Amino acid sequence: MKFITFLKDGKETVGMLFGDEAVIVNDILSSHGLPSRGNMLDLIDGIAGGTDILRVLESADPAAFSRLPAADLKLLAPIPYPRRNIFCLGKNYAAHANEVKLTKLSGSGIPAAPVYFTKTAMPAVASGDCIRFSRGVTTMVDYEAELAVVIGKSGKDIRPADAESYVFGYTIINDVSARDLQSRHEQWFKGKNLDTFCPMGPCIVDKSEMPFPVALGIRCTVNGELRQDSNTRELIFDLATVISDLSKGLTLLPGDIISTGTPSGVGAGFDPPRFLTDGDLVECTVEGIGTLSNRVRAEA
Ligand code: MG
Repeated sequence: MKFITFLKDGKETVGMLFGDEAVIVNDILSSHGLPSRGNMLDLIDGIAGGTDILRVLESADPAAFSRLPAADLKLLAPIPYPRRNIFCLGKNYAAHANEVKLTKLSGSGIPAAPVYFTKTAMPAVASGDCIRFSRGVTTMVDYEAELAVVIGKSGKDIRPADAESYVFGYTIINDVSARDLQSRHEQWFKGKNLDTFCPMGPCIVDKSEMPFPVALGIRCTVNGELRQDSNTRELIFDLATVISDLSKGLTLLPGDIISTGTPSGVGAGFDPPRFLTDGDLVECTVEGIGTLSNRVRAEA
């Protein structure tokens, strides 16, 4: 199943994709006498509370419902306003850890333990929306294609062997980064958290459609030119390790999002660096999920 969030009559609406058409999730739920869900977080909460919703959605026949052409929908990020910051992994692909070692961003190479930071999404911007920044604030804006995991139920001190059962599904995040701000301040927070710097989407794919451990091609192009090209099997700390480690003494909640780090090929890794400029089109693709596509708008 692929879930999207889109605007309908000015409201966040959750849909399921069937090919190039979408069916409104609440139409499916109400046909089975199940209560409506307000948005994606509310849907994930409902699924965490019991299995009926998943079973009903899995068996839905799109022919029984009104179908909307997906291309006509105004997409939002699948979870435009996460309840709390997105948990992010830094330096979680060896080749990327080595490329940033050569820059001033981080000198320590491959980490001995997962490197965590967080990213605000107020809101996360959708595929098709713009990444915007002012040249008065930053002139070194970079892309980072990442596989992101959406947590499906509460858990603490999760064992690696149980990690997959805490996953709801997967999406794509572009961990847009202002490298000048990232290196000026000792912590990465400022450089990772400008408005619009968290594109997310285009959809959430539920975990039943994905292998675990995940082994998915991940790519990023800028104006069609391939910049990042790897596979999530190359993660230094795999998902089971990350979910287990992060949940030690810290309760993960339904709807939490973990962005798993980016492969090599970021703009900062080139000599000379190749940062984003006005008009660039950044496309992040993860196998089985789709493409997160965002145009760059740089203002004076
Ligand atoms: Mg990143």
